[in-house]
Amino acid sequence: MSSSETPPPLYAAREPVFPRRVSGKFRNLKWWIMLVTLGIYYLTPWIRWDRGPELPDQAVLVDMAGRRFFFFWIEIWPHEFYFIAGLLIMAGLGLFLFTSAMGRVWCGYTCPQTVWTDLFILVERWVEGDRNARVRLWNAKWDARKVRLRLTKWVLWALIGLATGGAWVFYFTDAPTLFVNLLNGTAHPIAYTTMFILTATTFFFGGVAREQVCIYACPWPRIQAAMMDEDTITVAYREWRGEPRGKGKNRDGMGDCIDCMACVNVCPMGIDIRNGQQMECITCALCIDACDDMMEKIGKPRGLIDYIALKDEAREREGEPPAPVIKHILRPRTILYTALWSLVGLGLVFALFIRPDIDMTVAPVRNPTFIVQSDGTVRNVYDIRLRNKHGEARPFGMALNSDTPLSLEIEGADGSLVMVPADEMRQIRVYVDAGPDSAAATMDRTEFTFWVTDLNSNERAYTNTVFNGRGN
Ligand code: SF4
Ligand code: SF4
Repeated sequence: MSSSETPPPLYAAREPVFPRRVSGKFRNLKWWIMLVTLGIYYLTPWIRWDRGPELPDQAVLVDMAGRRFFFFWIEIWPHEFYFIAGLLIMAGLGLFLFTSAMGRVWCGYTCPQTVWTDLFILVERWVEGDRNARVRLWNAKWDARKVRLRLTKWVLWALIGLATGGAWVFYFTDAPTLFVNLLNGTAHPIAYTTMFILTATTFFFGGVAREQVCIYACPWPRIQAAMMDEDTITVAYREWRGEPRGKGKNRDGMGDCIDCMACVNVCPMGIDIRNGQQMECITCALCIDACDDMMEKIGKPRGLIDYIALKDEAREREGEPPAPVIKHILRPRTILYTALWSLVGLGLVFALFIRPDIDMTVAPVRNPTFIVQSDGTVRNVYDIRLRNKHGEARPFGMALNSDTPLSLEIEGADGSLVMVPADEMRQIRVYVDAGPDSAAATMDRTEFTFWVTDLNSNERAYTNTVFNGRGN
């Protein structure tokens, strides 16, 4: 480049993408996945789950006020956050596993950005027509028709955004109650603010930014390369079969690609898979459907574009069939990810089944460590926290077990009975006394055990602690 030439710009303006409608097995799979994932997202807050009269009956609820997470029959308390951490680890390992086995299947089929963009493109196609009509409308001058079509599309997009934001806030409080409050304007301002933000971001990401989010904003395309290798099955063009490409009826010396551009026109990322693997490709496989359709029309075998492991390229160039898919999938890396994923999953299930229904924590009051009363009795004080995980108030019996005589008194209680309200934690103050001449009073430290019994279910829990005596 001579010094007089202008350097190329650092920023290239966005080329709008107008994906064409396509049909085929992968498109159908994507429709089904969209239906299921959106159905789960929008409908879950409306599922009811009976937990008893004093607990919320919403199956999935993030109860911020009660600081709990309800998931059908499972209730996660803040001190059990390791369940959420475990699930996040499983999600990460699952993503590693699928990426190393099948490339960017998450991006192509289930990522919320992909699913909502797909939905927004569907609406756009309903309103403005298929690719050619949309290109014409894009290039047309603004007139009444263009304004009408654009407004219709934007209103529908905004409604989808509103439903998306609305569904989100329903996860945080009783959905039917919040729905009524939203309609009559009495919901909390945070609900309206959250819905407004999510409506705007859904509209922007799904309708306006679309593929730009995947290409420029998402870190995953940069990271996932580390999980892929030559055995990873990903969308690719059989260039050894398709080239030299070209139009025309005379196919002598030509490959199977008739350069119809169908694969490019359906691509939601606006790329040409015939240029090789690209970071922009989300492996949605729509180009496979488009090309298979074209191959059938011209009487050629399907699979010019296909899910392929790069390792098979050399075999295929020699005219041999590709290795069985299972050979590519079962390899040390995927086996390791599966083993780790299963290990974490089994650990969580085990932890779920062995977690007690009673939680008790004992905190000795150490300022002072003991008191000598006027009659010589030595007293220690303990703060005990009891958590009732049931949907109704329950009576708990407190007791202690020690090798030397100790007595127990509960502040504000009649005897050793403590009522704990439904699904709540109650803190009680407990006094433990040792007679003036007892062993516990004359020793420095005596170990003993607090026992608590759920008097309805007879389930018991205990905690070991220490009694501080005055010593000799
Ligand atoms: S190249 Fe094919 S698989 Fe990749 S994003 Fe485009 S249509 Fe999807
Ligand atoms: S759809 Fe198939 S035949 Fe048409 S341009 Fe793409 S690769 Fe070639």
